[in-house]
Amino acid sequence: MSGSLDDFASAKLDELEARTLRRRLVETDRYGAVEVRRDGRTLISFCCNDYLNLSHHPKVIAAAKDATDRYGTGSGASRLVTGNHPLFAELETRLAKLKQAEDCVIFGSGYLANLGIVPSLAGPGDLILADELSHSCLLAGTKLSGAEAHIFRHNDLAHVEALLEAHRGKARHCLILTDGVFSMDGDLAPVVELATLANRYDAWLMTDDAHGIGVVGEGRGSSFVTGVKADVPLQMGTLSKAIGSYGGYLCASKPVVDFIRTRARTLIYSTGLPPASVAAALAALDVIEAEPDYAALPVKKANLFTRALNLPVAQSPIVPLIIGEADATLAASAMLEREGFLVTGIRPPTVPAGTARLRFTFTAAHKDEDIHRLASLVRERVLPRKAAE
Ligand SMILES: *Cc1c(COP(=O)(O)O)cnc(C)c1O
Repeated sequence: MSGSLDDFASAKLDELEARTLRRRLVETDRYGAVEVRRDGRTLISFCCNDYLNLSHHPKVIAAAKDATDRYGTGSGASRLVTGNHPLFAELETRLAKLKQAEDCVIFGSGYLANLGIVPSLAGPGDLILADELSHSCLLAGTKLSGAEAHIFRHNDLAHVEALLEAHRGKARHCLILTDGVFSMDGDLAPVVELATLANRYDAWLMTDDAHGIGVVGEGRGSSFVTGVKADVPLQMGTLSKAIGSYGGYLCASKPVVDFIRTRARTLIYSTGLPPASVAAALAALDVIEAEPDYAALPVKKANLFTRALNLPVAQSPIVPLIIGEADATLAASAMLEREGFLVTGIRPPTVPAGTARLRFTFTAAHKDEDIHRLASLVRERVLPRKAAE
């Protein structure tokens, strides 16, 4: 008998439905670099994180197939048991080199990486400071750690310094967490300045560069936007976005990586990535390293769009257009879908209440003419309503 369980779930769903916050999975056939099919219609997606379209690159697909033929479809166990197939070492070496770090460790996903890394490095008696717009999994890792946590205002260095002044002294260790490229806003963290502050207060800076690798800092990520590596000792990221595959990673010094390999629960107690995913990531890095200009394309495409609409210059392939309320956001998204563009509305709790938005993402393969047509639709049919509110 589970009547109360079903009642609980139904009541929760009704409550979310009433606030336009219920989410639904929509079957989507992503059959091309930017094209998707939904309900029998072809749409151009402006909301995938596959910024370099590498998930559909022939060399990347071939590498995944070869790895499956050679090693099978699954890894069979945790990496610490028998799941550590030979492709892992190759990918870890390549990522460490790209990020100019001594070593690298790969996890099952970016989410799992943060759930494993943060509690391994901080616990009760330690201090964690995190940007308020940090990704959900950095905050989940923080909660799991049991450390004293304070959230700082988005990219507000003075606030970080004030929190360090107030709380650093009594804590054993201190970890500062931020996205490198903010996933729902597309702006960059001030990593150079954060690194200086972190060093001054003996704090450890960790960036989540899920949206940075492959597309900013000549493909090396947010630690490299000035041309030289910022002093970020913990560079975390995912293989699931511009790399076109799946899996998370941490690039850091050798002792830190060795420690994480032996302590992070999400590495120890979760099965290693399938060989195909690791091989695909390796092939994607080959493409990125062979064609450095390719990595710059998504940001260039984003700026075609921002120029057409007089929006602030895009620092990444992500361009948010804040609408405000969830229902107006869904209406704008539905209008774009009728016109042949897939731009999913982003609602709380993914973003703060009152800041529901369209989140446009641009990829290397988007055609300029489609970007212009999308911008016209937004100019004529989304912005006027936004202004009228
Ligand atoms: C997508 C994302 C993650 C999670 O990565 P997955 O590999 O998809 O689990 C972590 N952090 C940020 C900032 C992200 O955007």
